[in-house]
Parts: sequence; C-alpha cells; structure tokens
Amino acid sequence: MSAPEMDWPNIGFQYRETPVRFVSDYIDGKWDEGRFSTDSNVVINESAGVLQYAQTCFEGLKAYRTEKGEIVCFRPDLNASRMAESAKRLCMPVFPEDRFVEAVKAVVAANEEFVPPYGSGATLYVRPVMFATSPVLGVKPAVNYQFRIFVSPVGPYFKGGARPVSLMVSDFDRAAPRGTGHVKAGLNYAMSLFAIEHAHALGFNENMYLDAATRTHVEETGGANFIFVTKDGALVTPKSSTILPSITRRSLLYVAEHILGMKVEEREIPFEDVKEFVEAGLCGTAAVISPVGKITYDGGVIEIPSGMEKMGPVLQKLYDTLTGIQMGRIEGPEGWVVRIK
Ligand SMILES: *Cc1c(COP(=O)(O)O)cnc(C)c1O
Repeated sequence: MSAPEMDWPNIGFQYRETPVRFVSDYIDGKWDEGRFSTDSNVVINESAGVLQYAQTCFEGLKAYRTEKGEIVCFRPDLNASRMAESAKRLCMPVFPEDRFVEAVKAVVAANEEFVPPYGSGATLYVRPVMFATSPVLGVKPAVNYQFRIFVSPVGPYFKGGARPVSLMVSDFDRAAPRGTGHVKAGLNYAMSLFAIEHAHALGFNENMYLDAATRTHVEETGGANFIFVTKDGALVTPKSSTILPSITRRSLLYVAEHILGMKVEEREIPFEDVKEFVEAGLCGTAAVISPVGKITYDGGVIEIPSGMEKMGPVLQKLYDTLTGIQMGRIEGPEGWVVRIK
C-alpha cells in the first residue's frame, strides 16, 4: 500500500516494508561506504554467525513530524553509542557513531512519504540492526558483518489514551545475572519469549523481572524500564547494571529534575518497597510511558494507588513534557531533537 492511502491511527505496531534501507558490510576488517537498497531480503550462509550463535544486536528509535511540519528524530546519538556498547559485548565491530546518525537521517529522508502526519499518533519506527554474516562452526566471533537500517511506520501505541497494564512477577529471568542484561540484542528477547507467552496466558500484560542473582530487587520488564513515584512526589528508578539503559528513562529523569524541579533518585529498589509507591510506569521508545495498575506476585497483588483507570498525575505531567519536547511544542535541551528535513 502506498503511504498516502494509510489509515495512520489504525496501522498497529507491525513490520511494514518501506522502499529504501541503508546497508553497509564489514569485510576484510572494515566497514564499506554503505548504500541504499530496495531489497528487503538478506541472503546469508547457512552457518552464518547470526544463525548459529546469535551474534546480532539492534536499536530502536522513532522519526516523526513536529507541529511545524519538520521531520525529526530524538537523541539518535544515544542509540549510536548504545549500539556500540552492545556490539562490543557481542564481539562485533562497532559501526562508527557519526555514520550511524547520518545513516538514520538518510534512510528516514529517503522514505519521507512514510513519516506519518503530525497529530496522527503514528510515527516512523527506525530499526538499526547488525549481524554476523560469515560462517562459523567452532564457537568464535564471525569475520564479516552487515549493518542495516530499515524503517516501518507504526500506529499510536495506545488508542484513546493509555490504560494501565497489569504485571506479574516472573519466575523467569530476563537475562543472565550479570554481563548481558544491558545489551540490546535478540538473544535477550529470544530468552524472554517463553516468559511473556506464559504471562499472557495467565492474563497479564507483561512481566516484572527481579534481579536474577538474588530475586529481591526490581529490574525491568521484557522491553521497558520501570519508573515509580513516591508519596512525597519523587521519581525513583532501579539502579542496576543488568537492565537495558533506556534512553526514554534517561530523558524522563532529566526532565523531572531540571524542567519540573522534582527530586530524582536512581537506587536499588527492593520488591518489598513497591507497595509504598503511588504511581508506577514502564518507559521506552514505543509508548514513552505506560502506566502500571497492578502487580501480582506469589504472596498477593499490589494495587498501585493511581489505579487501573488512567495514568497518575505525576507520570502524566512527565509524559506531556517529554512528548511536548519531542513534538516541538516545548523547547527541550540542546541536541535532543535532531532535524532531518
Ligand atoms: C529498548 C529497551 C528498553 C527501552 O529503551 P529506550 O531506549 O527507552 O527505547 C528497555 N528495556 C529493554 C530490554 C530494551 O530492549
């Protein structure tokens, strides 16, 4: 379907092929110049490192139109540096961060007609991905890699406003106790599929993972970090080296502290303390903030006081401020909103 015919508010969150992607290959120890491609398929050897030992990592960010009609994206430099960290941990070559940002802009511009209109709630999701293309059989890093950026228009995460979600404390671990939880990689998601299917079958929207080593502290969900609001209005978020460092979370903490004048704390959060919070939310690129209404665990149910009806007032204020900055309605810190066109 061509872009002008799309029913933007109802397109959902799924892959939709767009005309142009950026592709660069790492061969003979270096990244080539890169090129645009109209081919959405990848042909690789049956023993490629990505297929045998899951040598792959990815990123996710959005491009959208602001109130003034400009096409922008949000803090792509942080996606570039996070992907560099993921690549290093998986023994993959780093795609240069400045080239990453330039390629994001170029692919979005090349698929301009698929950037949804301002106010539709839809955005253009940008997916950079890197994977090992050359064959391996013994366990070792591959020699050749491909870096690719494709884009797909996605609908608004919530239609008709955010409804709070219901979580269960998972018996599973999201990632290994140490060393891999901060890596944005398919391998962590593959290991979480069984747990999320289990939670869905029991009627929950998502899992709350506790730290794998002691199972006493709050970590994150499968694909979003936690933020909590205390009785006295402070914003609290788990401190842990095994969760994925969310760019949305970093931005919300900054907005809370420097724009809204809130007290902000990043600290270990014992699960026992969760019942003391008055608001709870999940944060990530896709939804920005999803409110949490209930958390079910072995010993009972925690009902977050802000309830199952809508987002609590403090999180709503944070949400409005951050999305206001992203959409160009509120002036944000220098460099956050990057103009593409
Ligand atoms: C991507 C991701 C997040 C959210 O990060 P953002 O940069 O805010 O989109 C949180 N947790 C996990 C496991 C993720 O993969």
